[in-house]
Amino acid sequence: MNNTFKIVFLVGLIIAEVIRFPHRQRNKREMREKKLAESRLNPLDVMLDFLAFGGMEVIPLIYIFTPWLDFANYALPPVLGWLGAVIFVATLWLLWRAHADLGLNWSPTLQITQAHQLVTQGVYHYIRHPIYAAMWLWGIAQVLLLQNWIAGPATLLFYGIVYFRRTPREEQMMLDRFGDEYRAYMQQTGRVIPKLGK
Ligand code: SAH
Repeated sequence: MNNTFKIVFLVGLIIAEVIRFPHRQRNKREMREKKLAESRLNPLDVMLDFLAFGGMEVIPLIYIFTPWLDFANYALPPVLGWLGAVIFVATLWLLWRAHADLGLNWSPTLQITQAHQLVTQGVYHYIRHPIYAAMWLWGIAQVLLLQNWIAGPATLLFYGIVYFRRTPREEQMMLDRFGDEYRAYMQQTGRVIPKLGK
């Protein structure tokens, strides 16, 4: 059973890379063509992003392809593994949908492009950070799919640090750029959980 869940995770990871690939390529092109109006990035962010990547991809791959972490395995009832699979599918859907809605405004770090537009449609109508919400779902799915004390919680731990540091700074950047428009948008939406009654 455990191997089945490892394969589910691996396939999901590959699909996530396919979803992100064209957006990463486009962003690199924009960076080269200097189409950015603003970029808020410092060495600590680079290090933390690297850590989150380790938690989401590198540590899981080590766990899946080597026996090195097996001493720290745990075993959950199969139904929880399948729940993890369902959550991972939801993660990939949200990641794909959010990228489609955010379009040219996506960037891997805090950036504003010259032609930046505020997106409040699609999944952004409900939450301000659907991509980050997808990362949280990924973290939960990982705990259930990779039943190992090191590989399981790695995303929740490392991505969690990135999230709590990055989100307020991203919102400040959006406020500086879009002002009242973004302030009104914040009233309507939750960060990663939709506001009730809206
Ligand atoms: N936090 C969002 C976007 C992640 S990509 C999410 O989780 O889905 C990061 C970049 O998206 C930021 O640098 C910012 O420039 C841009 N961004 C964030 N929210 C946006 C919005 N509502 N409209 C347009 N661009 C946005």
